[in-house]
Amino acid sequence: MNIHEHQAKEILREYGAPVSEGIVIKTKNEIKEKISELKGSVYVLKAQIHAGGRGKAGGVKLIKEKKNLIFEAEKMFGKTLVTHQTGPDGKEVKRLYIEEASYISKEFYLSCLVDRASSKIAFISSTQGGMDIEKVASETPEKIITKKINYSLDGPSDNEIKEIISIFNLKGEQINKGKKLIRTLYKILVDKDASLIEINPLIITEEKNLICLDAKMNFDDNAIFRRPDILKLRDLNEEEPAEIEASKHDLAYIKLNGSIGCMVNGAGLAMATMDIIKLYGQEPANFLDVGGGATKEKVTAAFKLILADKNVKGILINIFGGIMRCDVLAHGVVEAAKQVNLSVPLVVRLAGTNFQEGKKILEDSNLKILSALDLNDAAKKIVDAIK
Ligand code: GDP
Ligand code: MG
Repeated sequence: MNIHEHQAKEILREYGAPVSEGIVIKTKNEIKEKISELKGSVYVLKAQIHAGGRGKAGGVKLIKEKKNLIFEAEKMFGKTLVTHQTGPDGKEVKRLYIEEASYISKEFYLSCLVDRASSKIAFISSTQGGMDIEKVASETPEKIITKKINYSLDGPSDNEIKEIISIFNLKGEQINKGKKLIRTLYKILVDKDASLIEINPLIITEEKNLICLDAKMNFDDNAIFRRPDILKLRDLNEEEPAEIEASKHDLAYIKLNGSIGCMVNGAGLAMATMDIIKLYGQEPANFLDVGGGATKEKVTAAFKLILADKNVKGILINIFGGIMRCDVLAHGVVEAAKQVNLSVPLVVRLAGTNFQEGKKILEDSNLKILSALDLNDAAKKIVDAIK
C-alpha cells in the first residue's frame, strides 16, 4: 500500500525526523482560507498523487507571493498530471500540499527497504539526490552506496550507520542529525511494516540544516491487518478501481496496459501466461491469479473484472486444476458471460482436476469459445483471434 507524501512526512515528524511545516488541501473551496493561515514568504506547492517525477511534470512549484500561490493552487487542483510513473493517462490531482520552501545547498538520495533477495534491510545512499535513482545506478554506480544489514531490534550499528552516511560527507552537527535519521528510518520501517521509505531528495539547506524534502513510503499489504493506523491513510482515489473491486473478492489482480485479458490460477502460471502472450507479440491487459480454492462467484467476479477493461480485445483463460476444479471455473465463466455481453474472443486451456467436466460445461454453454491443447497453442490462438 502506498501513502501520500504529506502522510509520510507526518509519520517522519512523529518520529522526530526533520521535515518542513506544511498544510494539506483536500477541496478547492478551502484553498484561499488555508493559504491565508500560512507563515513564511516562499512556498512550495506540491501535487499529492501516488507517483514520483512530479517535479519535472509541473507538480512541484516554488512560489513567492500568497496571491500567486492561490492562483497556482487553483490551477493545479483537479489538473491531470502525467509523470514517468503515472502511465500515459496521468493522475488527477485531488490533494495539494504546501510547505514553507527550503533553500537548497545539496540534494542527496536516501532510502531504506526490505531486500528480499538477501533477507536483509538495505539502506541506499547517494549524492545524486532529486534524480532517478535507477539512472544513477546504471550510469554512475560509484555515486551510490548500498548497505545491507541484518535485522535486529537494536537497529543498525554505529559503524553501519557511518558507512551509510559516509557518501554525504556531512560536517559538524549534521553528522549526528544524519545518524539519527538513519536510526529513525529503520525504526519506522520495522514499527510500521513498511517495505520502502525513500527520501529523495534529502537536502542540506543553505543554513546547513538537514531536511527530508520529499518522502515516499510503501507498506507490506500482508501486514496491513495489524497496522490500522496505516490502513487509515489509504486513499482509494489513488488506486485503480478494478484493483479495489478485485481486493473485495480477494483476487490478486493488477491492471496492465495490453489488450489480452488473462485469467489464470497460480501466480507463477499467471506470469508464464503473460510471458507467452508477449512472446507472440501481444501484451497482457492484466495479471490475475484466481487462486486455489476459487468459488464460482469468485470466478464470475474475476471474469467481469477482465471484461470491464475497455482495452481488452481477447481473453485467455489458463487453468491448471489442482485444488481449483475446472468445472467450477467453467460454471463461473458461463455465469459471468450470461451477466455481461461477451463480445471478444475467448480461448480456454483447461488441464487437471475435472477438466473433462469443465470442457463439457463450456461446450454446452453456446458461448463462442476456442479451446486449446496447451499453453503454447492457447497463446497462439488468442493472438491470432484478435488480429
Ligand atoms: P518528485 O519530483 O515527485 O520526486 O517531487 P520532489 O518533492 O522530490 O520535488 C522535486 C524537486 O523540486 C526537488 O528535487 C527539488 O529540487 C525541488 N524542490 C522541492 N521542494 C523544494 C523547496 O522547498 N525548495 C527548493 N528550492 N526546491 C524544492
Ligand atoms: Mg522526489
